[in-house]
Amino acid sequence: MKVLDRFLRYVRYDTTSDPHAPETKYPSTDKQLTLLSLLRDELREMGLSADMNAYGYVTATLPANVEGAPTLCYIAHVDTSPAVSGTDVRPRVIRYEGGDILLDEAGEYRITEADNPELSGYRGQELVVTDGRTLLGADDKAGVAEIMAAVEYFVTHPDEPHGTVKVAFTPDEEIGRGTDHFDVAAFGADFGYTVDGGELGEIEYENFNAASGLLEIDGVSVHPGSAKGRMKNAVEIFAAFQSALPKDQTPATTEKYEGFYMPDEVKGSVEHLVAYYIIRDHDKAAFEAKKAYFSELAERIDRAWGGGCVKATVKDSYYNMAEIIRQHMHLIDHAKAAMRSCGVTPRVVPIRGGTDGARLSYEGLPCPNLSTGGLNFHGRREFIPVRSLSTMTRVLIALTESYARP
Ligand SMILES: [Zn+2]
Repeated sequence: MKVLDRFLRYVRYDTTSDPHAPETKYPSTDKQLTLLSLLRDELREMGLSADMNAYGYVTATLPANVEGAPTLCYIAHVDTSPAVSGTDVRPRVIRYEGGDILLDEAGEYRITEADNPELSGYRGQELVVTDGRTLLGADDKAGVAEIMAAVEYFVTHPDEPHGTVKVAFTPDEEIGRGTDHFDVAAFGADFGYTVDGGELGEIEYENFNAASGLLEIDGVSVHPGSAKGRMKNAVEIFAAFQSALPKDQTPATTEKYEGFYMPDEVKGSVEHLVAYYIIRDHDKAAFEAKKAYFSELAERIDRAWGGGCVKATVKDSYYNMAEIIRQHMHLIDHAKAAMRSCGVTPRVVPIRGGTDGARLSYEGLPCPNLSTGGLNFHGRREFIPVRSLSTMTRVLIALTESYARP
């Protein structure tokens, strides 16, 4: 089956994950299991041993036809971002001849040349777009379709050399729980790739070091008419803390490898206030310095307000996988070579976020991230060039074969 047909079929399944589902519910939405079980069945129909476990993880093995090659894996997630509806996705294949792309009939949603300078590179190509009502789901059903198509290629071309290839399809990546129950040891791969990136050619192995910062402020509430010298307003204390954070270290003032602090949610009033921050930096030393400053600042503000009112708790969330991948740079070298062999110019780009591969890398499965070919993820303007889908499938085939060569 053509990779485009697979993709168009998979995106019709509503697989939105739910960040508000209780942690005990896994996957967060039952509808993800519909697509996951379909994928398990399709893998079995291809003749692979495939299973879906109690958490919904689908894993499959393509046995090696050469000896001595490492066990390689490819991982993609089936859920789509809760940021935009994923219900009743109606993908459309259009031929792009230049200009803006009208998504819905009312003309409310467009992919404009002004906002998408990369569009000009796809002139004359077929693109899969939405009808403006939903996201597309190329993140990450493009990855799913490309992995499935690559596996199918090896099944139908038994003479093409490959080592053992493991495949995993996971739920709940978009809500940060994608690897919560992933059993790296049982999976049994030496290393591999997540196929969950953006525009064709991207290779990602540097992501943020990430921590959460919790600020708890206890104020003293007194009737404002008689508050002189007595009231300690938690809102004012928070404002003092927030305004002492560096202005040039926010998401809106940084890019590429630059880190930041961001207040994500603030709840409170005069007597009590809690603020949830995220702290991010690619550089380990700068990351540690940011966390230390956050705690020191809380102590300083606490002293300024008489003590006993401000408490900061900093907790690490995940780390930059570059620390691990640098010990396995063959993963990047092989990916670059495979792309070049398919006429794609590889580009290593830093991730301003995390990936499932980052967690897996620290759990013993080195796992950089490869492009899917899709653009404008998590929105109605998401699209993917048809040619990128098939080229990326060829990249995965070439990559697999490159590890089977002595
Ligand atoms: Zn994704």
